[in-house]
Amino acid sequence: MSSTPFPSGTILGYPRIGRRRELKKAVESYWAGRSSLDDLETAAAELRAVTRTRLAGLGLGQDDSAIPETFSFYDQVLDAAVAVGAIPARFERLRESDGSIGLPAYFTIARGEGDDAPLEMTKWFDSNYHYLVPEIGPDTVFSLSSDRIVREFEEAKAAGFLTRPSIVGPVTFLLLSKAADDAGAGFSPIERLDDLLPVYVELLERLALAGAEWVQLDEPGLVNESITVPRDQQLAALERAYAVLGAVAGRPQLFVAAPYGSLDDALPVLAASTVDAIGLDLVRGSLPTGLDDAAVSALATKTLVAGVVDGHNVWRGDLAGAFAAAEGVRALSPNVSVSTSTSLQHVPHDVADESLLDARLVSWLAFADQKVAQVVALARGIRDGGSAIEAELAAATAALADRADAPGVRDGAVRARLAGLDDSAFSRGSYAERLAAQDAALDLPPLPTTTIGSFPQTGEIRRARAQLLKGDIDEAAYLELMRDEIRRVVDLQEEIGLDVIVHGEPERNDMVQYFAENLDGFEVTQNGWVQSYGSRCTRPSILWGDVSRPAPITVDWSVFTQSLTEKPVKGMLTGPVTILAWSFVRDDQPLGETARQVALALRDEIADLESAGIGVIQVDEPALRELLPLKNADHADYLDWSVGSFRLATAGVEAKTQIHTHLCYSEFGVVIDAIQNLDADVTSIEAARSRMEVVDDLQSSGFDHGIGPGVYDIHSPRVPSVDEVRSLLEKAVAAIPERQVWVNPDCGLKTRGYDETVASLRNILEATRAVRAQL
Ligand code: GLN
Ligand code: ZN
Repeated sequence: MSSTPFPSGTILGYPRIGRRRELKKAVESYWAGRSSLDDLETAAAELRAVTRTRLAGLGLGQDDSAIPETFSFYDQVLDAAVAVGAIPARFERLRESDGSIGLPAYFTIARGEGDDAPLEMTKWFDSNYHYLVPEIGPDTVFSLSSDRIVREFEEAKAAGFLTRPSIVGPVTFLLLSKAADDAGAGFSPIERLDDLLPVYVELLERLALAGAEWVQLDEPGLVNESITVPRDQQLAALERAYAVLGAVAGRPQLFVAAPYGSLDDALPVLAASTVDAIGLDLVRGSLPTGLDDAAVSALATKTLVAGVVDGHNVWRGDLAGAFAAAEGVRALSPNVSVSTSTSLQHVPHDVADESLLDARLVSWLAFADQKVAQVVALARGIRDGGSAIEAELAAATAALADRADAPGVRDGAVRARLAGLDDSAFSRGSYAERLAAQDAALDLPPLPTTTIGSFPQTGEIRRARAQLLKGDIDEAAYLELMRDEIRRVVDLQEEIGLDVIVHGEPERNDMVQYFAENLDGFEVTQNGWVQSYGSRCTRPSILWGDVSRPAPITVDWSVFTQSLTEKPVKGMLTGPVTILAWSFVRDDQPLGETARQVALALRDEIADLESAGIGVIQVDEPALRELLPLKNADHADYLDWSVGSFRLATAGVEAKTQIHTHLCYSEFGVVIDAIQNLDADVTSIEAARSRMEVVDDLQSSGFDHGIGPGVYDIHSPRVPSVDEVRSLLEKAVAAIPERQVWVNPDCGLKTRGYDETVASLRNILEATRAVRAQL
């Protein structure tokens, strides 16, 4: 076994999408048939080469194995599934004649084909990244089915870089998998550990042969309390896995990383194994306490990789504090290295690409490349002593102090207003009274129909926005184009017969960025893209200061829309939790504080909408569940501020004004009470795919407000038939009192085309009329 020491500084992963989203473009061009598989492979190899050179240039190249290989064409969990051959039976036909799974098959598993549904997608820990969920059954055959990880290591080596291959570890792989549909009750993928391990063994042997000195195995599954496998079973699996992998003859050294939280009782298990280095997330997690003597002496033989540079956010942060935290790890082991807390896949590439950002703000920021430089500096401090990096630490501390004092970071007026709030600001009073007032004011039929807000974002809409940005058309011309679009969308809704009208959101590039651009305290970036899933990227705004609303944002649009119709128009806002969840948020105060500032700005917007005559206002909170912390102990605090900020935003209106909210999912679990506590008059949710199951859940939890279970799955181009919608609605009215039921699609229509949208809405209306007739 090689015994090269672990590099003194490293990162757990690097963005793979490319500074200018080169991977996205290459992949999508291949999907569209505009380029060949070879072209795609060439573009990807080029991107990997650029990444290695870049990381070496930033100082990571000095030590062997410091540069991790974390490229992925789509997703790291899919990479692992394909490497070990764990693909659903419906895709087995895609294997090459030698049993391997090539890139075309890989993409098909990710995206589906015909009736063969893709792997499900779900949120990766507490990030905005989504991974593909492997399906494992009792009969899944594990076999090495892709040697990409070996080839990428060899490719690097040929280019003169001894890099560190990385893969999702076997325990996390199984913990994050779901039981295949035909697995039978009670089956849990973790039961297959012993069958899976030989493939990891083979992989380690192949990597050793290729010359890898260190291999990174990511085991964040062990920090996530929402995983349902019992903890003792998780720990037994961990022990078993690393006993087997540790015993591989001639293996590379093993670095087990556990980003996104604390390992807690899993740490002694890893300490007792023969793994060589353990990565600790010291940003979200903390140093272990209460270790017994055996664990203490076992840990002292490991290299402990202190994840002290935050891989989650874009702040330059407290470098001296990070250094002290890394130094603190010496109490556990003499061998300490420094790394990011998580992969840098969650942050954009480089602040230097943001020429339009204010220089002062830039000096407070660190994107991936700046974080790499921080790691390199801290590693030097760990090697040579703190005095070797005095200048770096002092500069970071000065930037932090500058940030604390800068105008806009603390706005006295915003703070005074928040401090002056009492409980009444969070409460709308009796629901029964509101119901009566709204019935009188709105005069809606039973089973009122509406949509979630957006209508298809057509090529013309996108073109108009691009032209405005480029200066090809002026603001007035742009506004007129958007008004034309709204006229069309309103006419269409009237003609179809919808009861509550929306304006269609044509003017919004994105439901969060649009508000960020119109609120103080935010900045938007030009190139700050991060991968959301597959080739999809988002460009989160940076919430850096106290938030306030300099002027009304949506009021003119809603008023214009209301002028076109006699029917009620629904104003459309994004809620505070979702605005936070999809932005990079300041790290110098609790999230709840920031959320309440956003809520106050929205409260003013809602008041203005109300006084302008808008009687229905929707505040979308699709991210409510997404932001739920990983640790159960943190749930109560989260639910308190998240629900509180929604209530603060919405509780200022009169009884007759109807507040709607929209949540994008149907598995409520722990947030079901929270949804109730939002106290929205109407809540629309996804339900078409789960055939209205959620209605029963809500019913049994005593939910008595309006509820719009989606009857149209907008994730697919399929048009639901009248009968189908009708049977969903019949299910809904059978389960809950009809006065509660609203009729709407699962989510916004912006990703759909007009043909299928119109056909689907017509069917929805026809089905609604039929069900109304039976009431
Ligand atoms: N109002 C938004 C829309 O219709 C809601 C989108 C969402 O929930 N993600 O597009
Ligand atoms: Zn939605």
